[in-house]
Amino acid sequence: MQPGYWQAELGPSAPRPPLPGDLEVDVAIVGAGFTGLWTTYHLLRADPSLRVVVLEREQVGFGASGRNGGWLSALLPGPRARYGTGADALGEAMRQQVLDVEKTCAEEGIDADLVRGGTLTVATTGAQEQRLRAHVATEQPHDPDLVLLGPDECDVRVAGLRVGAFTPHCARVQPAKLVRGLAEAAERRGAVIHEGTTVREIGTRRVVTDRGVVRAGWVVRATEGFTAGLPGQRRTWLPMNSSMIATDPLPQAFWDEVGWEGRATLGDEAHVYCYAQRTAGDRIAIGGRGIPYRYGSRTDDSGETARATVAELESTLARLFPQLAGTHAAAAWSGVLGVARDWCASVGADPATGLAWAGGYAGDGVTTSALAGRTLADLITGTASDLTALPWVGRAPRRWEPEPLRWLGVRTAYAAYRLADRVETTHVDSARTSPVARIADRLTGQ
Ligand SMILES: Cc1cc2nc3c(=O)[nH]c(=O)nc-3n(C[C@H](O)[C@H](O)[C@H](O)COP(=O)(O)OP(=O)(O)OC[C@H]3O[C@@H](n4cnc5c(N)ncnc54)[C@H](O)[C@@H]3O)c2cc1C
Repeated sequence: MQPGYWQAELGPSAPRPPLPGDLEVDVAIVGAGFTGLWTTYHLLRADPSLRVVVLEREQVGFGASGRNGGWLSALLPGPRARYGTGADALGEAMRQQVLDVEKTCAEEGIDADLVRGGTLTVATTGAQEQRLRAHVATEQPHDPDLVLLGPDECDVRVAGLRVGAFTPHCARVQPAKLVRGLAEAAERRGAVIHEGTTVREIGTRRVVTDRGVVRAGWVVRATEGFTAGLPGQRRTWLPMNSSMIATDPLPQAFWDEVGWEGRATLGDEAHVYCYAQRTAGDRIAIGGRGIPYRYGSRTDDSGETARATVAELESTLARLFPQLAGTHAAAAWSGVLGVARDWCASVGADPATGLAWAGGYAGDGVTTSALAGRTLADLITGTASDLTALPWVGRAPRRWEPEPLRWLGVRTAYAAYRLADRVETTHVDSARTSPVARIADRLTGQ
């Protein structure tokens, strides 16, 4: 997989040496994305004497962490009702976590282009408007700062805007800057990161790699969208692809028309929704569903983003900002994230086996992985805390269906969501959500 725009903007980083051979440590972390690195960082903050090694097949931030939309958001990672009575505590922890990441960046000198400008979700059809109003009505008691805005009140002037929903609990980041800065901060605290080291098997208190065997008191699986590639994990989290494009820097005349002064992250209420940010360099980076799910949960590693996917994102951009019609993407890239069968994230650590994990963030992993890192540090050091009492700790959702059911279900659902969006756009003034989307919701379990 090509590294994507964010990494390219920074240029290549000096490679870290692979694992030199067999090793014994206190904690072995598999994967150098946000989950692995936040866990490493917080473990070493809690106990600087720990020997922590990170094993990464490619490079720091190669996975979704270095190629995402850069929404450091407090969105709950999954449907609220499924977290039960602890959902509000999890919501509050997410809001605090946004601030905690900002604070850590300041303390560690990580310049991740972070601007806490909130999130604006826009509705551009009658059905989207009806859903967004319903969403605000049900979510407001849980996030009192969530407000419904009329078209003239929204900071971003999007074509066909009917209504927007805004919450201040989100920051825009340049994800590659954040993940690289985090790796360096962890190293300053004593972590050792080995790149170019493939983990073949995770066992009880041991990790088998292509470079040697690591024995450890704890092993943390932090491979989110790639987890299906590990033995025994094929049906744990569905690898879901998402693709992004970035424009060239846009001229001041465009921003004068569009606004976007507050740098809120921007999304819409379509079924196949998009997510966007105004970058520090005045580009728009926008993403949406990418390469379709691959049979057998195979991870896409072609490095290509299909021309059709790029064209679809370009047309979404032109729909929201007609001033950009005919604009071609300056960069396009894709990544893979992990989705649990119940669409809820989980974090856990089993003292009996020394196995720990976190993931299944379903596209909301930037803040959630940081919360996971702090939680795993508490679980591993045996520290009972507010974090270890949150409802996502120890969750074990059922596994995805075996093939071909998995492939059929996911492919059918995404075709249905696309059809539903087309129907709702055609009948732009109808407030009715297409019934096709409801069938898709049932298929995917959303
Ligand atoms: C295009 C895209 C846009 C997104 N936008 C957002 C967003 O705006 N906001 C948000 O909150 N979330 C977003 N997400 C989701 C978010 O990026 C992820 O949930 C999060 O980064 C997951 O972090 P992670 O560390 O768990 O996994 P990853 O970042 O994927 O890291 C896993 C690492 O494990 C390594 N690895 C895998 N297998 C092995 C092995 N066998 N041996 C050794 N190493 C291995 C990989 O190389 C990788 O570096 C997006 C995801 C994508 C793909």
